Amino acid sequence: MIFLGIESSCDETAVALYEGDISSGDGKLIAEQVASQIETHARFGGVVPEVASREHLAALPPMVESLMQDAGFTFDQIDQIAVTAGPGLMGALLVGTSYARALGMVHHIPVMPIHHMEGHLLAPGIDKLLPEFPFITLLVSGGHTMLVRVDGIGSYSIVGQTLDDAAGECFDKSARLLGLPYPGGPEIARLAQQGDAKRFTLPRPMLQKDNLHFSFSGLKTAVMYAVKNAGGIDSFDAQAISDMAAAIESAICEVLVKKSIKACIQEDAPRLVIAGGVAANRSLREQLFEMAARKQIEVHLPDPKHCTDNAAMIAYAAFQRARFGVHIPDVWDAQPRWSLAL
Ligand code: ATP
Ligand code: MG
Ligand code: FE
Repeated sequence: MIFLGIESSCDETAVALYEGDISSGDGKLIAEQVASQIETHARFGGVVPEVASREHLAALPPMVESLMQDAGFTFDQIDQIAVTAGPGLMGALLVGTSYARALGMVHHIPVMPIHHMEGHLLAPGIDKLLPEFPFITLLVSGGHTMLVRVDGIGSYSIVGQTLDDAAGECFDKSARLLGLPYPGGPEIARLAQQGDAKRFTLPRPMLQKDNLHFSFSGLKTAVMYAVKNAGGIDSFDAQAISDMAAAIESAICEVLVKKSIKACIQEDAPRLVIAGGVAANRSLREQLFEMAARKQIEVHLPDPKHCTDNAAMIAYAAFQRARFGVHIPDVWDAQPRWSLAL
């Protein structure tokens, strides 16, 4: 079966073609395109919803056309369209879902709504094999930070999540306090390489709590006070900014790593997937591999380009749903808020 994936939930417009064999489970990514709107939104210091919708609208039709043309495909070869139906920005989701529905209607192709976070959490399967069930996924992105127990396709339970800000949001907001451009995660990661994480002391929120939840808004506030107490950002030289970046990265990563390992042990699921934009963080990956090896936990990571938003993961999730015959509602709509655990 050939799947056409469409993603437009936030600030990336993405399209992909995935070929999957329902009976054997084998599949491969044929082609994909991602157009990031980051430069447009960077001027505003964050994503502007109305601007995002317009950009998706302008980008989607030519992207699908060139994706199909470059891969040498015509619409009569597409068996299934898969589109992100939520969660995300309402306007942005409406552009993607309306476009997918129109394509489906014109070319007589069924359209499957996909949960954006299901896409993220199955992403390691795009380039490699999915781990054996059950496994734990640390979903860590700009809008989400959660630990999900995966017992099968469509069988997800949230065992821990953030009570306030997401880890990616904490990276982004802390970066802003340091005067760094949006998105802050990659900037902090880059500067942290030259920084000394021990120069500034930051808290490890929720680490001592006997549960699997997170809280990152206090960490951002702690960064604000640490900067203030050290004389304000104007007194920071390049080294001080790198040192603070290293301290921020180290605090966020330590909490994520320790809680993820704890989840695997507690849930008796010695396989861990890390997905979402923050999973691209190298220090997080290294620390997780190190600690997981000590606890005999397998770590599965998507290719870095499939950690951030993409449509390959949406097409792939549709393939897995089709393969396992997971129920898809006949009537559905874009849902800006949509729980993964349904
Ligand atoms: P969601 O998936 O929750 O709707 P989103 O789609 O905006 O949110 P992603 O695109 O998956 O999130 O990830 C973007 C986030 O990842 C941003 O917060 C960004 O700062 C962060 N990020 C990206 N690369 C890195 C990195 N190397 N280190 C730390 N954070 C990173
Ligand atoms: Mg994004
Ligand atoms: Fe995402």
